[in-house]
Amino acid sequence: MATNCGNFATDNIPHLSVVYRLTPHHPIHLTREQTIRSAVTCTGVGLHSGAPVNLRLLPAPAGTGIVFHRTDLDSFAVEASGRNVARVSYATSLMKKGVLISTTEHLLSALIGVGIDNVIVELDNLELPILDGSALPFVEMIQRAGIRPQRKARTYLRIIREIELREGDKFIAVYPADTYSVSYSINFPHPLIGKQSFCVRLTNGSYLDQIAAARTFGFLHEADAMRQQGLIRGASTSNAIVMNREEVLNPPLRFPDEFVRHKVLDLIGDLALIGKRILGAVVADRAGHAMHTALVSRILRDRSYWQETTMEVPGRVPAPAQESVLSL
Ligand SMILES: [Zn+2]
Repeated sequence: MATNCGNFATDNIPHLSVVYRLTPHHPIHLTREQTIRSAVTCTGVGLHSGAPVNLRLLPAPAGTGIVFHRTDLDSFAVEASGRNVARVSYATSLMKKGVLISTTEHLLSALIGVGIDNVIVELDNLELPILDGSALPFVEMIQRAGIRPQRKARTYLRIIREIELREGDKFIAVYPADTYSVSYSINFPHPLIGKQSFCVRLTNGSYLDQIAAARTFGFLHEADAMRQQGLIRGASTSNAIVMNREEVLNPPLRFPDEFVRHKVLDLIGDLALIGKRILGAVVADRAGHAMHTALVSRILRDRSYWQETTMEVPGRVPAPAQESVLSL
């Protein structure tokens, strides 16, 4: 399956040298790991549980990765890793020794989108807050905290052989490429959605401009059945695009194709569970959290599909971390 994000084969690495500019004021480091500068908090409810939750992001040392701590359960730690994936249906949940961290994808997406490698995520309930249904409030939290480059070279997982997974009419794949891009197609039998496709290359601020604000969505006519399954108990018109069979009940949309953009957001969040940034072109067609995490498992299971690499420029002397005062 072809991608429409441009010709990956002709991309080259050297121009990625040190820093990509998100905007003139928003540089993002490509060569070093990053954490946040200070602790930041927010409060909300879980989309599916409806449970109130306080969330706090804390700086973490290089090499930590993204680690959740349940402060209501003696700060039990659950790493954001494919090996801890538990239930995957309408959201991606992690579980370790019976301790659940639910609906992780929007925060993980924001962390990847703005280039955070290492962070402690404290929460005092089982599900992350849904906030406005997008990743934008998490991006804004990270902006408030600031970004701190660290000394450790960031390790990328470079895809060297294609992986394609199919299940019925669902498809997901990753192909070798020199940058990370996501191309998604959906086809919902709804007059407002239908066929939509979107492709984004995660460089130059495209995540913030094109993906972060896209909200999750749901259909009123499915709401009762979902509530009976214990789902969407925290959903409302303030945290999701809600539609009946004909129209959006809480317009306006943030983008005409907000639906497929949100699927891209979810996929980026789910692929964060690989634990390293990808250099590869991901293509998904009518996939969902289960297919996304199946791809994570396949990648983690078979090392012949990838190799680790850094983007350190040979011979370049790394600057001390404290000189790299960068913030979003
Ligand atoms: Zn989502």
